[in-house]
Amino acid sequence: MSEPIQAIRGMNDVLPDDAPLWQFFEDTVQALLERYGYRRLRTPIVERTELFVRSIGEVTDIVEKEMYTFTDRLNGDSLTLRPECTASCVRAAIQHNLLYGGGQKIWYSGPMFRHERPQKGRYRQFHQVGAEALGYGGPDVDAELIVMGARLWKDLGLDGIELEINTLGSSEARARYRARLVQYLEKHQDALDEDSKRRLHTNPLRVLDSKNPAMQGLIEAAPRLIDDLDEESLKHFEDLQRLIRNAGLEYRINPRLVRGLDYYNRTVFEWVTTRLGAQGTVCAGGRYDGLIEQIGGKPAPGCGFAMGVERLIALIAESQTAKPLGAPDAYLVWSGEQAELHAWTVAERLRDAGVNVVMHSGGGSFKSQMKRADASGAKWAVIVGDDEAARGQASLKALRELKEQATVGIDDLIGLLTNGGDD
Ligand code: ATP
Ligand code: MG
Repeated sequence: MSEPIQAIRGMNDVLPDDAPLWQFFEDTVQALLERYGYRRLRTPIVERTELFVRSIGEVTDIVEKEMYTFTDRLNGDSLTLRPECTASCVRAAIQHNLLYGGGQKIWYSGPMFRHERPQKGRYRQFHQVGAEALGYGGPDVDAELIVMGARLWKDLGLDGIELEINTLGSSEARARYRARLVQYLEKHQDALDEDSKRRLHTNPLRVLDSKNPAMQGLIEAAPRLIDDLDEESLKHFEDLQRLIRNAGLEYRINPRLVRGLDYYNRTVFEWVTTRLGAQGTVCAGGRYDGLIEQIGGKPAPGCGFAMGVERLIALIAESQTAKPLGAPDAYLVWSGEQAELHAWTVAERLRDAGVNVVMHSGGGSFKSQMKRADASGAKWAVIVGDDEAARGQASLKALRELKEQATVGIDDLIGLLTNGGDD
Protein backbone atom coordinates (compact mmCIF):
# COMPACT_ATOMS: atom_id res chain seq x y z
CA MET A 1 0.00 0.00 0.00
CA SER A 2 1.26 3.49 -0.73
CA GLU A 3 1.45 6.28 1.85
CA PRO A 4 -1.96 7.88 2.46
CA ILE A 5 -2.20 11.48 1.33
CA GLN A 6 -2.89 13.96 4.10
CA ALA A 7 -4.58 17.34 4.06
CA ILE A 8 -2.29 20.38 4.01
CA ARG A 9 -1.10 21.47 7.45
CA GLY A 10 -3.36 24.12 8.92
CA MET A 11 -6.21 23.28 6.52
CA ASN A 12 -8.96 21.28 8.16
CA ASP A 13 -11.76 18.95 7.22
CA VAL A 14 -15.08 19.61 8.92
CA LEU A 15 -16.27 16.09 9.65
CA PRO A 16 -19.94 15.03 9.56
CA ASP A 17 -20.07 14.93 13.38
CA ASP A 18 -19.19 18.64 13.46
CA ALA A 19 -21.32 19.65 10.49
CA PRO A 20 -24.48 20.35 12.53
CA LEU A 21 -22.56 22.78 14.73
CA TRP A 22 -21.32 24.64 11.66
CA GLN A 23 -24.81 24.61 10.18
CA PHE A 24 -26.29 25.97 13.39
CA PHE A 25 -23.70 28.75 13.38
CA GLU A 26 -24.19 29.59 9.71
CA ASP A 27 -27.99 29.58 9.95
CA THR A 28 -27.96 31.75 13.06
CA VAL A 29 -25.54 34.28 11.56
CA GLN A 30 -27.43 34.50 8.29
CA ALA A 31 -30.77 35.04 10.04
CA LEU A 32 -29.24 37.73 12.23
CA LEU A 33 -27.59 39.64 9.39
CA GLU A 34 -30.78 39.57 7.40
CA ARG A 35 -32.73 40.85 10.39
CA TYR A 36 -30.59 43.98 10.17
CA GLY A 37 -31.04 44.29 6.43
CA TYR A 38 -27.53 43.23 5.37
CA ARG A 39 -27.48 41.43 2.00
CA ARG A 40 -25.03 38.76 0.94
CA LEU A 41 -22.21 39.34 -1.50
CA ARG A 42 -20.20 36.40 -2.88
CA THR A 43 -16.80 37.21 -4.35
CA PRO A 44 -14.11 34.96 -5.87
CA ILE A 45 -11.54 33.31 -3.63
CA VAL A 46 -8.68 34.43 -5.89
CA GLU A 47 -7.94 38.11 -6.57
CA ARG A 48 -5.09 40.10 -8.03
CA THR A 49 -2.28 40.35 -5.48
CA GLU A 50 -2.21 44.11 -5.92
CA LEU A 51 -5.70 44.43 -4.40
CA PHE A 52 -4.44 43.19 -1.04
CA VAL A 53 -1.13 45.04 -1.19
CA ARG A 54 -2.94 48.30 -1.87
CA SER A 55 -5.65 47.85 0.75
CA ILE A 56 -4.13 45.91 3.64
CA GLY A 57 -0.78 47.69 3.37
CA GLU A 58 2.75 46.71 2.44
CA VAL A 59 4.07 46.62 6.01
CA THR A 60 1.55 44.30 7.63
CA ASP A 61 1.92 40.69 8.73
CA ILE A 62 -0.54 39.61 6.07
CA VAL A 63 1.17 41.19 3.08
CA GLU A 64 4.72 40.72 4.37
CA LYS A 65 4.53 37.02 5.06
CA GLU A 66 1.09 35.44 5.18
CA MET A 67 -0.29 35.51 1.64
CA TYR A 68 -0.62 32.52 -0.67
CA THR A 69 0.57 34.19 -3.83
CA PHE A 70 1.25 32.51 -7.18
CA THR A 71 1.74 33.40 -10.81
CA ASP A 72 -0.89 32.71 -13.42
CA ARG A 73 1.04 30.43 -15.73
CA LEU A 74 -0.56 31.78 -18.89
CA ASN A 75 -0.16 35.53 -18.56
CA GLY A 76 2.21 35.92 -15.63
CA ASP A 77 -0.30 37.85 -13.46
CA SER A 78 0.35 37.72 -9.74
CA LEU A 79 -2.69 36.23 -7.98
CA THR A 80 -3.45 35.63 -4.31
CA LEU A 81 -5.85 33.45 -2.32
CA ARG A 82 -7.83 36.01 -0.36
CA PRO A 83 -6.50 36.48 3.19
CA GLU A 84 -9.60 38.51 4.14
CA CYS A 85 -12.67 39.76 2.33
CA THR A 86 -13.06 43.49 2.98
CA ALA A 87 -10.81 44.36 0.04
CA SER A 88 -12.83 42.07 -2.24
CA CYS A 89 -16.13 43.61 -1.10
CA VAL A 90 -14.82 47.09 -1.80
CA ARG A 91 -13.43 46.01 -5.17
CA ALA A 92 -16.79 44.50 -6.13
CA ALA A 93 -18.69 47.57 -4.93
CA ILE A 94 -16.52 49.80 -7.11
CA GLN A 95 -16.52 47.49 -10.12
CA HIS A 96 -20.31 47.12 -10.13
CA ASN A 97 -21.03 50.67 -9.06
CA LEU A 98 -22.97 49.43 -6.03
CA LEU A 99 -22.71 52.75 -4.23
CA TYR A 100 -24.35 54.64 -7.07
CA GLY A 101 -27.69 55.02 -5.31
CA GLY A 102 -26.36 55.45 -1.76
CA GLY A 103 -24.93 53.16 0.88
CA GLN A 104 -24.82 49.38 0.80
CA LYS A 105 -24.97 47.03 3.76
CA ILE A 106 -23.49 43.69 2.77
CA TRP A 107 -22.19 40.53 4.34
CA TYR A 108 -20.06 37.59 3.25
CA SER A 109 -19.03 34.18 4.49
CA GLY A 110 -16.31 31.83 3.34
CA PRO A 111 -12.76 30.52 3.58
CA MET A 112 -9.72 32.81 3.88
CA PHE A 113 -6.05 31.83 3.57
CA ARG A 114 -3.03 32.97 5.55
CA HIS A 115 0.33 31.28 5.80
CA GLU A 116 0.70 31.42 9.58
CA ARG A 117 2.04 28.93 12.10
CA PRO A 118 -0.92 26.61 12.73
CA GLN A 119 -2.04 26.34 16.35
CA LYS A 120 -5.30 26.22 18.28
CA GLY A 121 -7.59 28.90 16.81
CA ARG A 122 -5.08 29.81 14.09
CA TYR A 123 -5.15 27.99 10.78
CA ARG A 124 -3.98 28.42 7.20
CA GLN A 125 -7.42 27.97 5.74
CA PHE A 126 -9.97 29.43 8.13
CA HIS A 127 -13.42 30.94 7.77
CA GLN A 128 -14.75 34.38 8.30
CA VAL A 129 -18.23 35.84 8.30
CA GLY A 130 -18.18 39.58 7.95
CA ALA A 131 -20.40 42.60 7.45
CA GLU A 132 -19.53 45.83 5.65
CA ALA A 133 -21.54 49.05 5.67
CA LEU A 134 -20.24 50.96 2.64
CA GLY A 135 -21.01 54.61 2.02
CA TYR A 136 -22.02 55.57 5.56
CA GLY A 137 -19.87 57.94 7.59
CA GLY A 138 -21.79 58.31 10.82
CA PRO A 139 -21.14 56.61 14.16
CA ASP A 140 -24.60 55.03 13.96
CA VAL A 141 -23.41 52.29 11.60
CA ASP A 142 -20.36 51.65 13.79
CA ALA A 143 -22.82 51.21 16.66
CA GLU A 144 -25.14 49.03 14.58
CA LEU A 145 -22.30 46.68 13.65
CA ILE A 146 -21.34 46.39 17.30
CA VAL A 147 -24.91 45.83 18.48
CA MET A 148 -25.31 43.11 15.83
CA GLY A 149 -22.34 41.31 17.33
CA ALA A 150 -23.82 41.47 20.82
CA ARG A 151 -27.11 40.06 19.58
CA LEU A 152 -25.32 37.30 17.71
CA TRP A 153 -23.53 36.07 20.84
CA LYS A 154 -26.93 35.92 22.53
CA ASP A 155 -28.51 34.04 19.61
CA LEU A 156 -25.61 31.57 19.68
CA GLY A 157 -26.00 31.09 23.43
CA LEU A 158 -22.54 32.46 24.20
CA ASP A 159 -21.63 34.63 27.13
CA GLY A 160 -18.38 36.12 28.40
CA ILE A 161 -17.48 37.75 25.08
CA GLU A 162 -16.27 41.24 25.94
CA LEU A 163 -16.20 44.36 23.85
CA GLU A 164 -13.11 46.54 23.50
CA ILE A 165 -13.18 49.74 21.50
CA ASN A 166 -10.73 52.45 20.56
CA THR A 167 -10.41 55.26 18.07
CA LEU A 168 -7.51 55.82 15.68
CA GLY A 169 -8.66 59.32 14.71
CA SER A 170 -7.99 60.96 11.36
CA SER A 171 -4.89 60.24 9.31
CA GLU A 172 -3.46 63.61 10.39
CA ALA A 173 -3.98 62.74 14.03
CA ARG A 174 -2.34 59.38 13.44
CA ALA A 175 0.64 61.06 11.77
CA ARG A 176 1.10 63.35 14.78
CA TYR A 177 0.83 60.41 17.12
CA ARG A 178 3.15 58.31 15.02
CA ALA A 179 5.90 60.90 15.38
CA ARG A 180 5.50 60.96 19.16
CA LEU A 181 5.41 57.17 19.34
CA VAL A 182 8.57 56.77 17.26
CA GLN A 183 10.36 59.23 19.52
CA TYR A 184 9.32 57.23 22.56
CA LEU A 185 10.23 53.86 21.05
CA GLU A 186 13.59 55.12 19.85
CA LYS A 187 14.40 56.12 23.41
CA HIS A 188 13.73 52.52 24.44
CA GLN A 189 15.41 50.80 21.45
CA ASP A 190 17.18 48.30 23.70
CA ALA A 191 13.95 46.98 25.13
CA LEU A 192 12.40 46.28 21.71
CA ASP A 193 12.17 42.74 20.37
CA GLU A 194 13.20 41.89 16.80
CA ASP A 195 9.73 42.37 15.29
CA SER A 196 9.27 45.72 16.98
CA LYS A 197 12.68 46.98 15.88
CA ARG A 198 11.72 46.16 12.33
CA ARG A 199 8.37 47.91 12.70
CA LEU A 200 9.76 50.96 14.46
CA HIS A 201 10.25 52.86 11.21
CA THR A 202 7.90 51.02 8.88
CA ASN A 203 4.71 50.62 10.91
CA PRO A 204 5.30 51.79 14.50
CA LEU A 205 1.64 51.58 15.54
CA ARG A 206 1.91 47.83 15.09
CA VAL A 207 4.42 47.69 17.93
CA LEU A 208 1.45 48.31 20.23
CA ASP A 209 -0.16 45.17 18.80
CA SER A 210 2.75 42.97 19.92
CA LYS A 211 1.73 39.85 21.80
CA ASN A 212 5.21 39.43 23.33
CA PRO A 213 4.81 39.47 27.15
CA ALA A 214 8.29 41.01 27.53
CA MET A 215 7.09 44.07 25.62
CA GLN A 216 3.93 44.75 27.62
CA GLY A 217 5.46 47.11 30.19
CA LEU A 218 6.92 49.29 27.47
CA ILE A 219 3.62 49.28 25.57
CA GLU A 220 1.63 50.20 28.68
CA ALA A 221 3.81 53.26 29.25
CA ALA A 222 3.75 54.42 25.61
CA PRO A 223 2.13 57.76 24.68
CA ARG A 224 -1.58 57.52 23.89
CA LEU A 225 -3.24 58.30 20.61
CA ILE A 226 -6.24 59.79 22.35
CA ASP A 227 -4.10 62.81 23.29
CA ASP A 228 -3.50 63.59 19.58
CA LEU A 229 -7.08 63.08 18.53
CA ASP A 230 -8.80 65.58 16.23
CA GLU A 231 -12.04 67.09 17.43
CA GLU A 232 -14.30 65.44 14.87
CA SER A 233 -12.97 61.99 15.59
CA LEU A 234 -13.39 62.61 19.29
CA LYS A 235 -17.02 63.56 18.73
CA HIS A 236 -17.54 60.50 16.51
CA PHE A 237 -16.11 58.34 19.29
CA GLU A 238 -18.31 59.92 21.94
CA ASP A 239 -21.44 59.58 19.80
CA LEU A 240 -20.64 55.93 19.19
CA GLN A 241 -20.30 55.31 22.92
CA ARG A 242 -23.59 57.07 23.60
CA LEU A 243 -25.33 54.75 21.14
CA ILE A 244 -23.87 51.51 22.43
CA ARG A 245 -24.44 52.52 26.05
CA ASN A 246 -28.03 53.26 25.12
CA ALA A 247 -28.26 49.73 23.66
CA GLY A 248 -27.26 48.43 27.08
CA LEU A 249 -23.80 47.18 26.11
CA GLU A 250 -20.81 47.16 28.38
CA TYR A 251 -17.42 47.90 26.90
CA ARG A 252 -13.86 48.79 27.71
CA ILE A 253 -11.82 51.46 25.98
CA ASN A 254 -8.48 49.87 25.13
CA PRO A 255 -6.04 52.59 24.04
CA ARG A 256 -3.60 49.90 22.78
CA LEU A 257 -6.11 48.47 20.34
CA VAL A 258 -4.74 49.35 16.89
CA ARG A 259 -5.71 46.37 14.67
CA GLY A 260 -3.32 44.68 12.29
CA LEU A 261 -4.42 46.20 9.01
CA ASP A 262 -3.42 49.59 7.67
CA TYR A 263 -6.77 50.74 6.38
CA TYR A 264 -8.54 51.53 9.64
CA ASN A 265 -9.30 55.02 10.94
CA ARG A 266 -11.51 56.29 13.78
CA THR A 267 -13.47 53.42 15.35
CA VAL A 268 -11.78 50.07 15.90
CA PHE A 269 -13.25 47.29 18.02
CA GLU A 270 -12.70 43.71 19.05
CA TRP A 271 -14.83 41.10 20.77
CA VAL A 272 -12.60 38.99 23.00
CA THR A 273 -12.93 36.01 25.29
CA THR A 274 -10.55 34.50 27.81
CA ARG A 275 -11.90 31.00 27.14
CA LEU A 276 -9.80 30.27 24.03
CA GLY A 277 -6.26 30.78 25.31
CA ALA A 278 -3.97 33.00 23.26
CA GLN A 279 -6.35 33.26 20.28
CA GLY A 280 -9.06 35.15 22.15
CA THR A 281 -10.34 37.60 19.53
CA VAL A 282 -13.48 36.21 17.92
CA CYS A 283 -14.52 39.30 15.97
CA ALA A 284 -12.69 42.41 14.92
CA GLY A 285 -13.54 45.45 12.90
CA GLY A 286 -13.56 49.15 12.44
CA ARG A 287 -13.97 52.11 10.18
CA TYR A 288 -12.03 52.50 6.93
CA ASP A 289 -13.02 55.81 5.39
CA GLY A 290 -10.04 56.01 3.02
CA LEU A 291 -10.13 52.49 1.63
CA ILE A 292 -12.64 52.85 -1.19
CA GLU A 293 -10.71 55.76 -2.69
CA GLN A 294 -7.42 53.92 -2.14
CA ILE A 295 -8.67 51.05 -4.28
CA GLY A 296 -9.72 53.45 -7.02
CA GLY A 297 -13.35 54.24 -6.22
CA LYS A 298 -15.05 57.56 -5.68
CA PRO A 299 -14.28 58.59 -2.09
CA ALA A 300 -16.82 57.05 0.29
CA PRO A 301 -16.60 55.94 3.91
CA GLY A 302 -16.95 52.39 5.15
CA CYS A 303 -17.11 50.33 8.33
CA GLY A 304 -17.22 46.60 8.99
CA PHE A 305 -16.16 43.58 10.97
CA ALA A 306 -14.99 40.02 10.41
CA MET A 307 -15.41 37.14 12.79
CA GLY A 308 -13.35 33.99 13.08
CA VAL A 309 -15.75 31.11 12.55
CA GLU A 310 -13.46 28.35 13.92
CA ARG A 311 -12.99 30.27 17.17
CA LEU A 312 -16.73 30.81 17.60
CA ILE A 313 -17.48 27.18 16.79
CA ALA A 314 -14.97 26.13 19.44
CA LEU A 315 -16.79 28.33 21.95
CA ILE A 316 -20.20 26.94 20.99
CA ALA A 317 -18.89 23.36 21.19
CA GLU A 318 -17.55 24.05 24.65
CA SER A 319 -20.83 25.42 25.94
CA GLN A 320 -22.98 22.73 24.33
CA THR A 321 -24.89 20.57 26.78
CA ALA A 322 -28.06 19.47 24.98
CA LYS A 323 -28.60 16.40 22.78
CA PRO A 324 -26.27 15.94 19.83
CA LEU A 325 -27.21 18.46 17.15
CA GLY A 326 -28.21 17.04 13.80
CA ALA A 327 -29.42 13.65 14.99
CA PRO A 328 -32.16 12.24 12.74
CA ASP A 329 -35.72 11.90 14.04
CA ALA A 330 -35.89 8.25 13.17
CA TYR A 331 -33.65 5.35 12.13
CA LEU A 332 -35.29 2.69 10.01
CA VAL A 333 -34.34 -0.87 10.86
CA TRP A 334 -35.49 -3.56 8.47
CA SER A 335 -34.86 -7.14 7.42
CA GLY A 336 -36.56 -9.66 5.19
CA GLU A 337 -37.30 -9.78 1.49
CA GLN A 338 -40.84 -8.37 1.61
CA ALA A 339 -39.71 -5.93 4.22
CA GLU A 340 -37.32 -4.08 1.90
CA LEU A 341 -39.92 -2.59 -0.44
CA HIS A 342 -42.24 -1.75 2.41
CA ALA A 343 -39.39 -0.15 4.36
CA TRP A 344 -38.69 2.13 1.40
CA THR A 345 -42.33 3.13 1.24
CA VAL A 346 -42.47 3.86 4.96
CA ALA A 347 -39.27 5.93 4.82
CA GLU A 348 -40.43 8.02 1.85
CA ARG A 349 -43.90 8.56 3.39
CA LEU A 350 -42.26 9.79 6.59
CA ARG A 351 -39.99 12.14 4.59
CA ASP A 352 -43.04 13.46 2.73
CA ALA A 353 -44.37 14.41 6.16
CA GLY A 354 -41.10 16.23 7.03
CA VAL A 355 -39.59 13.57 9.28
CA ASN A 356 -35.78 13.05 9.02
CA VAL A 357 -35.22 9.34 8.50
CA VAL A 358 -31.95 7.45 8.18
CA MET A 359 -32.64 4.20 6.34
CA HIS A 360 -30.30 1.42 7.42
CA SER A 361 -27.94 0.30 4.66
CA GLY A 362 -25.62 -2.64 4.50
CA GLY A 363 -27.78 -5.38 6.05
CA GLY A 364 -26.80 -7.12 9.27
CA SER A 365 -28.67 -8.69 12.17
CA PHE A 366 -31.56 -6.98 13.93
CA LYS A 367 -29.32 -6.50 16.96
CA SER A 368 -26.52 -4.82 15.02
CA GLN A 369 -29.01 -2.57 13.23
CA MET A 370 -30.52 -1.51 16.56
CA LYS A 371 -27.00 -0.64 17.75
CA ARG A 372 -26.54 1.63 14.74
CA ALA A 373 -29.96 3.17 15.39
CA ASP A 374 -28.94 4.02 18.93
CA ALA A 375 -25.55 5.42 17.88
CA SER A 376 -27.21 7.68 15.30
CA GLY A 377 -28.71 9.73 18.11
CA ALA A 378 -32.22 9.26 16.65
CA LYS A 379 -35.17 9.57 18.98
CA TRP A 380 -37.03 6.67 17.39
CA ALA A 381 -36.32 3.35 15.73
CA VAL A 382 -38.90 2.44 13.09
CA ILE A 383 -38.81 -1.34 12.61
CA VAL A 384 -40.04 -3.17 9.54
CA GLY A 385 -39.94 -6.96 9.24
CA ASP A 386 -41.81 -9.32 6.93
CA ASP A 387 -44.75 -9.46 9.40
CA GLU A 388 -45.16 -5.69 9.45
CA ALA A 389 -44.77 -5.60 5.67
CA ALA A 390 -47.52 -8.16 5.17
CA ARG A 391 -49.90 -6.06 7.27
CA GLY A 392 -48.80 -2.65 5.92
CA GLN A 393 -47.59 -1.61 9.36
CA ALA A 394 -44.39 -0.64 11.17
CA SER A 395 -43.19 -0.92 14.75
CA LEU A 396 -42.07 2.15 16.66
CA LYS A 397 -39.56 2.03 19.49
CA ALA A 398 -38.49 5.04 21.53
CA LEU A 399 -34.69 5.09 21.87
CA ARG A 400 -34.27 7.90 24.41
CA GLU A 401 -36.99 7.13 26.93
CA LEU A 402 -38.85 4.19 28.39
CA LYS A 403 -42.00 3.62 26.36
CA GLU A 404 -43.77 0.56 25.16
CA GLN A 405 -43.11 -0.51 21.59
CA ALA A 406 -46.16 -0.10 19.35
CA THR A 407 -47.09 -1.60 16.00
CA VAL A 408 -49.23 0.74 13.91
CA GLY A 409 -50.33 1.58 10.36
CA ILE A 410 -48.35 4.11 8.34
CA ASP A 411 -50.78 7.00 8.88
CA ASP A 412 -50.67 6.47 12.63
CA LEU A 413 -46.88 6.22 12.46
CA ILE A 414 -46.70 9.57 10.72
CA GLY A 415 -49.03 11.04 13.32
CA LEU A 416 -46.90 9.74 16.18
CA LEU A 417 -43.64 10.99 14.68
CA THR A 418 -44.88 14.41 13.61
CA ASN A 419 -46.33 15.35 16.98
CA GLY A 420 -43.43 13.88 18.88
CA GLY A 421 -45.42 10.75 19.80
CA ASP A 422 -46.46 12.35 23.07
CA ASP A 423 -50.15 11.46 23.09
P1 ATP B 1 -4.57 38.01 15.04
O1 ATP B 1 -4.01 39.19 15.77
O2 ATP B 1 -5.19 36.96 15.94
O3 ATP B 1 -3.62 37.43 14.04
P2 ATP B 1 -5.82 39.50 12.94
O4 ATP B 1 -5.74 40.90 13.37
O5 ATP B 1 -4.82 38.97 11.97
O6 ATP B 1 -5.83 38.55 14.22
P3 ATP B 1 -8.23 39.93 11.42
O7 ATP B 1 -7.49 40.05 10.15
O8 ATP B 1 -8.80 41.13 12.04
O9 ATP B 1 -7.30 39.15 12.47
O10 ATP B 1 -9.36 38.82 11.26
C1 ATP B 1 -10.60 38.87 11.98
C2 ATP B 1 -10.81 37.61 12.77
O11 ATP B 1 -10.58 36.46 11.99
C3 ATP B 1 -9.84 37.43 13.93
O12 ATP B 1 -10.28 38.16 15.05
C4 ATP B 1 -9.92 35.95 14.18
O13 ATP B 1 -11.08 35.63 14.93
C5 ATP B 1 -10.06 35.41 12.79
N1 ATP B 1 -8.75 34.97 12.27
C6 ATP B 1 -7.76 35.72 11.75
N2 ATP B 1 -6.72 34.96 11.34
C7 ATP B 1 -7.08 33.68 11.62
C8 ATP B 1 -6.45 32.41 11.43
N3 ATP B 1 -5.26 32.30 10.86
N4 ATP B 1 -7.11 31.30 11.84
C9 ATP B 1 -8.34 31.38 12.40
N5 ATP B 1 -8.99 32.54 12.59
C10 ATP B 1 -8.37 33.67 12.21
MG1 MG C 1 -3.08 37.85 12.10
